Amino acid sequence: MKVVVCIKQVPDTKGGVKFNPDGTLDRGAMLAIMNPDDKAGLEAALRLKDQYGAHVTVLTMGLPKAADVLREALAMGADDAVLVTDRVLGGADTWATSTTLAGALRNMEYDMIITGRQAIDGDTAQVGPQIAEHLGIPVISYAQEIKLDGNKVTVKRQYDDRYHMVEAKLPCLITALSELNDPRYMTPGGIFDAVKADITTWGRADLKDVEDGNLGLNGSPTKIAKASDKVRKGAGEKFVPESPEEAVDIIVGKLKEKHVI
Ligand SMILES: Cc1cc2nc3c(=O)[nH]c(=O)nc-3n(C[C@H](O)[C@H](O)[C@H](O)COP(=O)(O)OP(=O)(O)OC[C@H]3O[C@@H](n4cnc5c(N)ncnc54)[C@H](O)[C@@H]3O)c2cc1C
Repeated sequence: MKVVVCIKQVPDTKGGVKFNPDGTLDRGAMLAIMNPDDKAGLEAALRLKDQYGAHVTVLTMGLPKAADVLREALAMGADDAVLVTDRVLGGADTWATSTTLAGALRNMEYDMIITGRQAIDGDTAQVGPQIAEHLGIPVISYAQEIKLDGNKVTVKRQYDDRYHMVEAKLPCLITALSELNDPRYMTPGGIFDAVKADITTWGRADLKDVEDGNLGLNGSPTKIAKASDKVRKGAGEKFVPESPEEAVDIIVGKLKEKHVI
């Protein structure tokens, strides 16, 4: 069984988000990490390897330095890694990103593709389902549990405060939640091997059945006009009303003061 996991290198936004003057993310000024949902997706694939002997490949599209997250994945136990990097792919929105990843996946063997539910920088949760659409395979999103039975997969899918049990035939695409599991750590031996490991590096020419008009900034219907960090409001006003009536008076007074009513 062959599993391909799409992992994205993202800025660690826990330390605060830094922007360039033009409103784009200043990725150089922030620590780059493996997207948390993708790490859980990778762990799910490694458990299929432990249980069923699955072969695990990790795939990323990004700048050459995105190879760092591929080496981390190899050190966790992935079997091999593919980096798709090319200037013409830069500035991609989700449509162009999923088109690129689907173009790479058409040149790979897979019974199951795992992506994260969403990346912590773009936060759109669009790429996974878009890849499945490009490849014409079923998608099960928000996986909390994955069970395999021959060429059928059963997924416990998170849905608000409950869950669905969803079945699909392979090949299919599953989007993973970081709540899915506790990813294993890299092993010293794994790190040693990962540092030396060959990473397959592909460019635009290695993408199958994609048109230039759907790649990179030019192929992106969505352009980010400006991105900014949320403005932190000061602490709110505190009131201790003596009675419910007084509470109503205070609220109505505030709403009038702010011309809401
Ligand atoms: C602040 C901000 C807002 C944005 N808003 C939009 C928008 O509204 N519409 C739009 O089209 N684009 C938007 N973008 C651009 C978008 O982030 C990029 O296109 C990005 O490559 C993919 O979208 P995402 O980060 O939302 O990923 P998601 O769709 O959230 O990612 C889901 C999963 O897909 C996989 N994946 C995503 N990117 C890669 C990759 N490069 N390599 C391997 N696997 C990957 C991962 O498994 C990931 O967990 C925005 C970017 C930023 C920084």
